[in-house]
Amino acid sequence: MDLTAYGLHVPQVLHNPSPAVLYEEAIRFDPQAALVSSGALACTSGRKTGRSPADKRIVEHPESQDHIWWGPINIPLDEHTFLINRERAIDYLNTRARLYVVDGFAGWDPKYRLKVRVICERPYHALFMHNLLIRPSTEELIHFGEPDYVILNAGRFPANRYTSHMTSQTSVDLSFERREMVILGTEYAGEMKKGIFTVMNYLMPLKGVLSMHCAANEGPRGDVTLFFGLSGTGKTTLSADPQRRLIGDDEHCWTDEGIFNIEGGCYAKVIHLSPEHEPQIYRAIRFGTVLENVVFDPQTRQVDYADASITENTRAAYPIEFIDNAKIPCRGGHPSNILFLTYDAFGVLPPVARLTPEQAMYHFISGYTAKVAGTEVGVTEPQATFSACFGAAFLVWHPFKYAEMLAERIRRHGTQVWLVNTGLTGGPYGQGRRIPLAYTRALVDAIHNGTLAQVPTEVDERFGFAVPVRCPGVPEVLLQPRNTWESPEAYDEMANRLARLFAQNFEKYRAGCTQEVAAAGPCLARM
Ligand code: ATP
Ligand code: MN
Repeated sequence: MDLTAYGLHVPQVLHNPSPAVLYEEAIRFDPQAALVSSGALACTSGRKTGRSPADKRIVEHPESQDHIWWGPINIPLDEHTFLINRERAIDYLNTRARLYVVDGFAGWDPKYRLKVRVICERPYHALFMHNLLIRPSTEELIHFGEPDYVILNAGRFPANRYTSHMTSQTSVDLSFERREMVILGTEYAGEMKKGIFTVMNYLMPLKGVLSMHCAANEGPRGDVTLFFGLSGTGKTTLSADPQRRLIGDDEHCWTDEGIFNIEGGCYAKVIHLSPEHEPQIYRAIRFGTVLENVVFDPQTRQVDYADASITENTRAAYPIEFIDNAKIPCRGGHPSNILFLTYDAFGVLPPVARLTPEQAMYHFISGYTAKVAGTEVGVTEPQATFSACFGAAFLVWHPFKYAEMLAERIRRHGTQVWLVNTGLTGGPYGQGRRIPLAYTRALVDAIHNGTLAQVPTEVDERFGFAVPVRCPGVPEVLLQPRNTWESPEAYDEMANRLARLFAQNFEKYRAGCTQEVAAAGPCLARM
């Protein structure tokens, strides 16, 4: 394949190599790649084992600049500096003996799909994008033509810290005008897929299509559920459901006709993965699957999924058809249910609550989750994260753009929205424990079979949402978190703290919201 149009003159270029070829390439040329007993290809991503949001840059250009939500998420970069980084990537790639080119689609609806080309040095990155993009048929590859977007991945080579606007040796730069993404100084594969998601988050609203950071599946009656949530809240886990067909685990769009997945594969967290709790994901790890940053026995090549010594963020990337009941093509009708997944480390939110459309908007704009962060030795504190639209890191337009489109669609299609806490129950951090996956699955089942919508609810006096009083398969006491705490007063104190954090965060959005949405948050007057 000839890459001179990109300024690349590498002697060996493998164009759309098959997984088998990429395995051989990885084993022969990448000292960090290995085969494990399940047949998956295990690789390490080096220094970076997660995304680098602070190092992401968007080129400021007259054509797009007025559309972009500039700030800490979309940090502007001038075109000249983009070209310096691009040149650095090209120069580095030209020192390599072999390169890989992967062509694929983003978006299962042919009307909106993007032709993407990935140019990279590491076979595992090529296999990752082969799995995560939609794989064109042989026929489609013949007629692929010129790509709409190109990723130049030189992640093994650092950015120059003295290049203007660089704050580290990592730089992930996106130009909507050049339709290119340049990666320097990070080999974390997830950076590529979320880069394409960012592109879709820019392009789709221009066409009146809502792009969303959510998983999706479909029930036997064709009813679609969306699972929104920040990292680790359960999108991939809960959307893999033996009773329902998987449409996708992370990125979708909502058009006038229904929903479609952007991707051709899944990227599952595999820390503590077990065949008992997550059988479908476990079975998807086989020949063709990329395992990133897992630890395995050098002799038996058995993976130890409990080992977090490289990172807690261990991952498996596989084509969506590796999930037994995937729905291909990955499209569905208008959603009947939407779940907002949150990991509440404060142990305050109920395992499930029903939201009014106004409350749904309030919580969508808030995008709450939390984690337990270790500070000083032995001291742990929950840390709230508010990430608009449950994916602020990937938004390009102001969150209201997406929120308005979601509100309109929920209203038009009568979609019911639920808030689901997959985090702590039974007490605060330190005393509470994560709600067992089996209970969350029982709640999700009850949403799907309609039981939960029929159950009587109690209105939470602080948060205002309706909390179901019972659910088959879940101990009743768990549904009202105040009852699970040893001290109800301690619960009230913590709940007030969380309510204030919600209110504080919402201040920056209040002026731009309708009165109804602004009033749909926690009620501070009652505290
Ligand atoms: P990302 O956006 O990073 O892909 P995600 O929302 O897809 O994140 P998952 O990969 O589903 O997150 O991760 C959820 C993790 O939490 C899994 O490892 C799962 O086993 C674990 N888990 C434990 N208890 C629960 C629960 N009650 N509900 C959901 N997940 C749970
Ligand atoms: Mn996921």
